[in-house]
Formats: sequence, C-alpha cells, structure tokens
Amino acid sequence: MGPVRDIQVLVSGMTLDEKASLTVGVDLWNTAAISRLGIPSVKFTDGPNGARGATANFLAVSSSVCIPCATALGATWDPDLVEQAAAAVARQARDKGARVLLAPTVNLHRHPLWGRNFEAFSEDPILTARLAVAYIRGVQDQGVVATVKHLVGNETEFERYTSSSVIDERTMRELYLVPFEHAVRVAGVLALMTSYNRVNGAHVPDTPRFLRDVVRGEWGFQGFVMTDWFGLAKTVDAAGAGLDLEMPGPARAFGTELAAAVRAGLVEEAELDNKVRRMLTVFDGIGALDDPPLKEENPPDRPEDREITRRAAVESTVLLANRGVLPLQTGAIRRIALLGPNADRPAIMGGGSATVKPHYLLSPLAALRQRLGDAVEVVHEAAEGPAGIDRAESLARDADAVVVIVGTDSKVESEGYDRETMDLPGNQDDLVRRIVRENPNAVVVVNSGSPVTMPWAADAGALLQTWFSGQEHANALVDVLLGDADPGGRLPTTLPLLLEHTPAFGNFPGESSQVRYGEGLLVGYRWYEARRLPVRFPFGHGLSYTTFEIGTPRLSSPRLEAGGRLRIEVPVTNTGTRRGSEVVQVYVAPPGGGSATRERRLRAVKELKAFAKVRLDPGETATVGLELGERAFAYYDVADEDWALLAARRANPSAHVHDSSLHHRKAGWYVDGGAYRIHIGRSSADIAHAVAVDVAGGPEPLDPSVPPD
Ligand code: BGC
Repeated sequence: MGPVRDIQVLVSGMTLDEKASLTVGVDLWNTAAISRLGIPSVKFTDGPNGARGATANFLAVSSSVCIPCATALGATWDPDLVEQAAAAVARQARDKGARVLLAPTVNLHRHPLWGRNFEAFSEDPILTARLAVAYIRGVQDQGVVATVKHLVGNETEFERYTSSSVIDERTMRELYLVPFEHAVRVAGVLALMTSYNRVNGAHVPDTPRFLRDVVRGEWGFQGFVMTDWFGLAKTVDAAGAGLDLEMPGPARAFGTELAAAVRAGLVEEAELDNKVRRMLTVFDGIGALDDPPLKEENPPDRPEDREITRRAAVESTVLLANRGVLPLQTGAIRRIALLGPNADRPAIMGGGSATVKPHYLLSPLAALRQRLGDAVEVVHEAAEGPAGIDRAESLARDADAVVVIVGTDSKVESEGYDRETMDLPGNQDDLVRRIVRENPNAVVVVNSGSPVTMPWAADAGALLQTWFSGQEHANALVDVLLGDADPGGRLPTTLPLLLEHTPAFGNFPGESSQVRYGEGLLVGYRWYEARRLPVRFPFGHGLSYTTFEIGTPRLSSPRLEAGGRLRIEVPVTNTGTRRGSEVVQVYVAPPGGGSATRERRLRAVKELKAFAKVRLDPGETATVGLELGERAFAYYDVADEDWALLAARRANPSAHVHDSSLHHRKAGWYVDGGAYRIHIGRSSADIAHAVAVDVAGGPEPLDPSVPPD
C-alpha cells in the first residue's frame, strides 16, 4: 500500500496545538485523533511474542497467538520461519485493530542474568540482525509497522530509567548498533523505540548523536521514533535530537509541553512539522489513516498460526546431548515417569511487557498423555520439596523411560529486574542430580528463556533446551521426544560453565549509576575464545537425530577485491537414517588468527558472518550458497584526526614508535588487506573446514552508502 494523502498539505492545514497533540499518546496505546481533518487514532500493541492488544493496566485481556520467545526464535537460525511467525503476530495485531507492533527487541545477550534475555535473539549481532530483518519483513508485509527496540545499550534492568550504559564507540558500532543498522538499512523498519537507560551519560532522545546523526544522517531512516513507555526525555533537547513521539500520554516532554516550547521560541515550528509529517507518512503508507481502531473482540485462533508456531517451537528446540536415548522408542515402553515442576506448569513466555494471554495452554504432561493414549502410562511428580524428590526417585526407578522437565518461569525471567543467579530455582538441581544418578538414561529438559548452570549436564542420558516456546511448547516437545520431529535448534547464545566466566562478570549489573561495558568487543563466544575459557555448550551447538557431512567448500574466487563479494558453496549430505536439519555456520578469522594479545588492533578470534539452514532426507545432498561482502572482513575505526599533527610534534621523529598504517583520519569501516580464514562448521567450536581467502582491503573506509549484509 502506498501513500494516499498529501501529507504536506495535511500538516500545513493544522494548528500548532493539533500538531503538538500528535507528538504524544492520548493514553497507553493510542495516538491522538484529529477528527476535523479525518485523522484517526492509531493503536499500538506489544510485543515480540504475541499481540497483547490495548489493555488498561498491561494485563492481557483478549487472547493472542503466542509464538516462541526471541531466544527460541534465535535458536531456529531460520529467517524464513521467523518471518512467518512474525506475520502471525502481525495478523493478530490487525485483528485487534493495532497498526504498530512494539517489536522486535534487538538488544544483545551481554550477560545471562539480564531479566529480558528471553526477549532478545542472541549474543551475536549478525544472527540478531538477520532474524530481526526477517521479523520486520513479516510484520510490515501485513500492513503493520514494526518497531525495532530499544536503541541502545539496554542490556540490564538495573536502575533502568536512569543508569548510563558506558560503551566505547567501536563496540557500539561493531556489536550493539548492528541489528538496528540492519533493521533500518536492510529491512526498512518504519518505527524505532529508544531505550530507558542513558548511553554515555545522556538519554538517547536528548542527544542528536544517535537519532539525528547516525540513524537518520548515516543510515537514512525514514520512519518515526518513539520513547519507551514513560521513558525520560527533555522537551527542547529531544525536539532537536530527532524524537517524534512520546509514549504514553499524558504529556511530560512533548504534546502541550512541546507546543509551549515552540511558542516560547525554543523549538522551531518546522521541527514540529517534521515530526508530524514523519508519523503521518508512515501511518498513511500502511493505510492506517483510513482504518480507525477496532474493538478487540474474539480474535481468531487460526489453524495456520498454530502450525507455524508449532514448527517454530520444534525448530528452536536444541538437543544439547544425546547418548542414544532420544527419540524415545515408545514400542518398548509401558510406563514413563514425567518429573519436575515444568512438566505440569510449563513456562511458555517471559514476564513484563512481552506477556500475552495465549489462545490456549497445554502442559507437557497433558500433551504426552494425549499422544500416547492408554498404551503407555505416564506418571508424574513435580518434586518441589525434599519428600517431593524421594517420590520422584522411586518413580524413576520403576519406569521404562524417565523425562525430567525443569526450568524457570515468567516470574524468574522478567522485564523490570535481573535474575540473581544462573542456577535453577529451588531444589531443581538437586532433583536432576538424583534422577540422573538413579537412571543414567534420564532425559533432562530445560524450560528456561536464558542459560542456566546445568552442573549435572554430563550425566544426563539426553538433554534438551526448549526456551519459552509459546503456546505450542508442549506439542512441540512431545513431537521431539517421540521422534515425530527432528530438534532443529542451535544455540543462539553460549551456555557458560560458570557465571564467573561470563564476559560481563564484574561489570554487571552496575554501580554509581553506570553500567560499564568493560568487556568491549568480546561478548559471547568472542570472549570465551579470546580467553580460552571452557564453556558448557558452545555458541551454535545443537544435535540432530540424524548425522550430516559438511563437504569441501568452494569459493567463487581465492581473492576478494575491494568492492567485491565472495560466494561460498558448501555441499551438505544427510549421512544418517532420518530426515533432519543442519545449520551451516560461516565464521571469519582475521589475518594472524586474531586475539586480544597477538594483534595490535583487537580482533575477535573469529566472528559469525553468514549461516544457512538446510533440511535433508537420508542420503540427500544439497549445496548451500552463502555470500560475504567486504563488511564481513571489516572493523570500525573511531580514527584520530589529530594523529598526524601529534606525530609531527614528537621530540625524535625518527624513533620507530608510530606506524602510520595503524592510524586513519576518518572514522568508518576499514578492511585491512591480508590472508583471512573462513571457518565453516556446525558450531563455533565444531569447524569442518577452514579455507584461506586473500582480501585486498585498502587504506580508505568502505563506502558508507553501501548497506551492510
Ligand atoms: C518496555 C517496552 C514495551 C513498552 C510498552 C516498556 O516497559 O520496555 O519494550 O514495548 O513497555 O509496553
């Protein structure tokens, strides 16, 4: 749908107060209407894993399709599927009359205890970016505005309205801004939400640094920018810096306050006009100006959305370990002991603004009993107290198969506060330890949105990570347990051995109003690899019920010229006896292998730059095609304009202490020439092939007008 109205004419016909009224919500979820001009309210709704609808107090009233949370979507490594799941959420938003969806969340998993980890895709910016682009396309194709959030540095709930995330420029550009950049430049996202926190001392809406200079100036963002709900902004600063909409109403910084600032001569009226024009252009472009909000009545529960949601849940389930126990051979089983608190009380979503009321909720216990009928007895014990564990042990002793489902829930993992420990709540570690001792074939299922410690992992017969996988959680889990589906998930985030090993340990959450991103570039696997630290399960890891061979890769050329692209073709063969999926992961390693110590410029040992998921029948081979542009080899240099001048003033200019090739005058993305290695494998730690490529590079920054890929 294209623009219908002449927005310029519409804006020029408005009074100052009418224009200002459009810069703040009229309530929690709606923008103001101007009936004289035929402008209706436009309804917004959360959120990433469903369309909650407009509710008075954030509590979900009408039901919605509830798709897997973002860590689960991250584990699918499947942009097409994420696009379909996001489209299901957007359809439900439209059923409720909402035309702006407050999703996706693209902050990174900097630390496993962040309360909202479950709401973000990954620790890796490229995996996050690719899935965010898919999510945004899925939403916007349904005529709904996607809102990429929260710009930027929102990776803890610690003093979240006031704390300042202290992030150096290179880290900002190479990690935290990347998903936003892709959202704007690749997906054409139409709305952006600023974060609650300050960044390097200022709230994002109050400084031109992000919205005016980077997002609009460098990336060419054409959509509109809103605050997070009740987020702080200063009227005059935010007006000049590029904020368009304060949410929700009544006004604190914009609206009547902005009108007063214009009247006082503190803000140009043209600035206000720009805001109104930007918002109305977006609304008009999706047809929202001709679509007043509906009442939210009986939103449909579509069979096709159930199907997509179930597929997404299956494809997100990560088989972490398997000693031949899974899938369960039900022909030989008369009794299954299904143990643990999350067997009967599944956690299908995290807490906070991502909460929706699902169309229905089914427990794994009910789903397993339904599926197996009378042929197999399913006995259950939640085992929440010590007597609680004794009985579970005796059930495990007498059963032909044992599945223990442990995890967290939406109270433990929620917006508003961080987790206090990475351990499972209560006595669950004890329960698992005793069950796997009793029965070494016991299957352990972890139903959490973020990493948990898993000290018993090596003793489990099989181990599954299911995340918070939405309303189809139980059906998908039973599909995987019984082998009706292959577990398609791969870890989007490293599972650490110990909290003390994690990159931000010592800098999390923060102190004295500051959250120091002291680990800099070394987030996630970049950290564990640079420090040579062992992990419980590495980034990208996940098994299938079948086996694959990743064949010898072919590069389109052994050399990448400046401005060129590299194509990689990788044959993949299903060498097992069942249909299943493999994720081919492509990591780039800089000349010299990279590390914190060997290189003068810090480079990660290797970084994910491309990936592809392939589904194959037994014996089938497919050739996977992947592409790398120059950005895949680049680093961001903050540069130093004064360096040449300072170097000339040295007392002894002939002393060999400065290397001019290390200094650029202009900030930007640079590629150093040299021999890079492309690692192709099935996880960051399981590399099947490493091939050399000679990269031309050059002394000039990459053309900033070329979008990233
Ligand atoms: C969250 C946002 C959300 C908004 C509206 C805030 O608390 O940080 O992500 O979209 O509320 O519910």
